[in-house]
Amino acid sequence: MDNRCKYLIVGGGMTADAAARAIRELDKDGKLIMLSSEPHPPYDRPPLSKKLWAGKPLDSIWRNTAELGIELRLNTRAVVSDGKRLSDGHGNVYTCDRLLLATGGTPRHLPFADPDVIYFRTMEDYLRVRALAADHASFIVIGGGFIGSEIAAALAMYGSKVTMIFPERGLGARIFPAGLSGFLNSQYRDRGVDLLPEENVSAVVRTGAKTAVTTRSGKTLNADAVIAGIGIEPEVSLAKALGLVVDNGIIVDKYLRTTREDIYAAGDVANFYSSALGHRRRVEHEDNANSMGTVAGRNMAGESEVYDHLPYFYSDLFDFGYEAVGEFASDYDIIEDWTEPFRKGVVYYLRSGRVRGVLLWNTWGQIDAARGLISAPGQVDAESLRGRISG
Ligand SMILES: Cc1cc2nc3c(=O)[nH]c(=O)nc-3n(C[C@H](O)[C@H](O)[C@H](O)COP(=O)(O)OP(=O)(O)OC[C@H]3O[C@@H](n4cnc5c(N)ncnc54)[C@H](O)[C@@H]3O)c2cc1C
Repeated sequence: MDNRCKYLIVGGGMTADAAARAIRELDKDGKLIMLSSEPHPPYDRPPLSKKLWAGKPLDSIWRNTAELGIELRLNTRAVVSDGKRLSDGHGNVYTCDRLLLATGGTPRHLPFADPDVIYFRTMEDYLRVRALAADHASFIVIGGGFIGSEIAAALAMYGSKVTMIFPERGLGARIFPAGLSGFLNSQYRDRGVDLLPEENVSAVVRTGAKTAVTTRSGKTLNADAVIAGIGIEPEVSLAKALGLVVDNGIIVDKYLRTTREDIYAAGDVANFYSSALGHRRRVEHEDNANSMGTVAGRNMAGESEVYDHLPYFYSDLFDFGYEAVGEFASDYDIIEDWTEPFRKGVVYYLRSGRVRGVLLWNTWGQIDAARGLISAPGQVDAESLRGRISG
């Protein structure tokens, strides 16, 4: 196998695909190798916890990356051997002119041995959970953030028995205002999901056909399967082994170059400077993966494009949906502007008199208006925000 190439992309997610696509638009023939540790070619990840459960066909989520005329090597985990050479651990050493690290994130694990927990992130996880659900399994979902809330809603809509355990008082409580979070709790309960808020898991033990989950307050619950969505850690092991600077992700400059000129990083793994927000951040969302991957690819192919995009993110929970731009925490100064309480409205997140984030709850087509508010210079009169954006 000839492992010399012009472009090497490590990662098989949406960022990797977006970068390969962007490279091919500028360079039709330059040899491009993509290494992915997953057994499947790149696919859209968000439908795994949403639309695939609501009837979207599995075929619709593949990104068709191989059609770009690249060498896509699946089941191939890149490692650094001899302190500097990139290899697949099976004797194949890769050399390239430009390298992109699009290694994404690895699910955070519970702080104890947990062989029976499904940390939901990949197609393989989806296929496993789907087979269990089709077999009428009951589920315990640990975590009340993005992934936990989405997969619990998806399973409940599919007809599965679901219990959620999470440490906060309400679903999404880290970012949603208390009223909205409490409303979500009641909506989940109304749809048959059992909730155990303000509980931490202390043990998960397989006993026969069931798995027992014990909470710190001493409760024990049984289910056929346990899923956890408790966040991710940026997958920086390769970057560290290559001697790159890492600090909550791989540090990149405005052109998405790491601390080595020929190595780029993008997507969930990259820590970049947000000019709109005025500080460095790492974003774990689809729009960022696609747009940052695109800019990284273009720059690898010779452009000098600055990444100054303010990405948005979105989620679907039962019949509620939202888009959101900026940064969010429930302890920001929050202005809630509801057209219909907790069913449709806009929530503004402020710090030091500036809009830092805008949550568009069942409010569509307003992402650019939200971006405009966040990028606007100077302080804003918080009360003047009411009615500023409406869907
Ligand atoms: C279930 C789920 C639902 C989501 N829903 C939404 C949503 O509704 N809205 C939204 O905005 N975002 C959502 N996201 C987040 C979004 O999917 C991520 O931001 C995006 O997938 C990040 O893409 P990435 O390519 O940077 O990283 P990843 O998707 O993590 O891809 C990284 C890839 O690199 C591979 N890899 C890592 N290390 C190596 C190595 N050493 N060698 C070879 N390959 C390696 C991995 O196997 C993987 O294929 C969701 C995520 C999940 C898991």
